[in-house]
Amino acid sequence: MGFQRLSDLSLTGKRVLLRVDFNVPIEDGVVGDDTRITAALPTIRYLLSHGASVLLVSHLGRPKGAPDPQYSLRPVAAHLAELLGQPVPLADDVVGPSAQAVAQALKPGEVALLENVRFEPGEERNDPELAKRLASLADVFVNDAFGAAHRAHASTAGVARLLPSAAGFLMERELDALGRVLTHPEPPFVVIFGGAKISDKIGVIRQFLMRADTVLVGGGIANTLLKAKGLEVGRSLVENDRLDTAQELLRTAEAESVVVARSLDEPGSIRTLTVTELGPDDAIFDIGPETIAAYSNAIHGARTIVWNGPMGLFERPPFDAGTRAIAAAVAESGAFSVVGGGDSVAAIHESGFAEKIGHISTGGGASLEFLEGRILPGVAALGTED
Ligand code: ADP
Ligand code: MG
Repeated sequence: MGFQRLSDLSLTGKRVLLRVDFNVPIEDGVVGDDTRITAALPTIRYLLSHGASVLLVSHLGRPKGAPDPQYSLRPVAAHLAELLGQPVPLADDVVGPSAQAVAQALKPGEVALLENVRFEPGEERNDPELAKRLASLADVFVNDAFGAAHRAHASTAGVARLLPSAAGFLMERELDALGRVLTHPEPPFVVIFGGAKISDKIGVIRQFLMRADTVLVGGGIANTLLKAKGLEVGRSLVENDRLDTAQELLRTAEAESVVVARSLDEPGSIRTLTVTELGPDDAIFDIGPETIAAYSNAIHGARTIVWNGPMGLFERPPFDAGTRAIAAAVAESGAFSVVGGGDSVAAIHESGFAEKIGHISTGGGASLEFLEGRILPGVAALGTED
């Protein structure tokens, strides 16, 4: 499906409603990690330099559909003003008198921010009235909040239907990279799945089992597969209600190594075993050296790689070794690689290999749904007719 890009819009003299993801950590009224704010700067600067004014709209946290000072975007406005080196007035409301006044006052080259869109009860239920009032604040809509694109909310899908709309640069990069691995991955195509649960990822796994040349599995997902194969997995993290699903996914049995322990509090019990050697008191916490070698080998031959989910309990060394080794292999492979998932992205940053990854997706749920082949409502609303 096609979508409108910034270059498709006429911007001079226009007021642009820009949906961003400024859902950043705030402590004592100050923005902590500002990655999500700096990530939006290229789109903001592009709009300003093309003669538009920018009215920003974002959610922050989970207020319950009513104003709550704890979730005010005030610290974000202050932080953004510093980054841009120009004032960023904050409206006291989302679509009320203050928002209207702030919008009216905007001149080309100027930026303002609406208050947290989730202060409006109509946001999450995509209320058409709220969408209409948002649309009335601007001439053009740009969506740069990929992480919110899998939900049909008033400030994403709703308003996009009412104004000329396009994807911002962040959204465009996500859609281009994820679209590339979904629709025409260059073979050999290797997919790596890990993380806690099969149930979160079953749709994507099915999708890629049909398309990938090789599927490598680690983490709790692998434990559930091993158990479905009839192997003893002891106290490993397993989804017992998904063994049928796991059975369906199983193709070949391979002898692989794993790192186990009886308990996380018993470092002396950490051992490397093959998957057939587990006792009832052991739990698998990482892939082992033979598995790392076999997986790295497959990864080195790949031209396209998708990775979602850590290979083990990577927050607790030494069980980070498998995830780190796979990160290194993906980075060194020379393949076009896409990494998604909150924990996987954290792991890739910690590994120091983030620079060598083709695309690091910012949208956990959104990227999984996109890779399942589902149409995201927030993206469909930016669509062209083709
Ligand atoms: P992502 O956020 O990348 O999609 P998930 O949220 O699905 O990944 O899974 C990540 C979590 O799974 C991490 O907290 C990790 O410690 C845990 N995990 C992975 N393998 C194991 C394992 N063998 N035993 C227990 N927890 C595991
Ligand atoms: Mg996670």
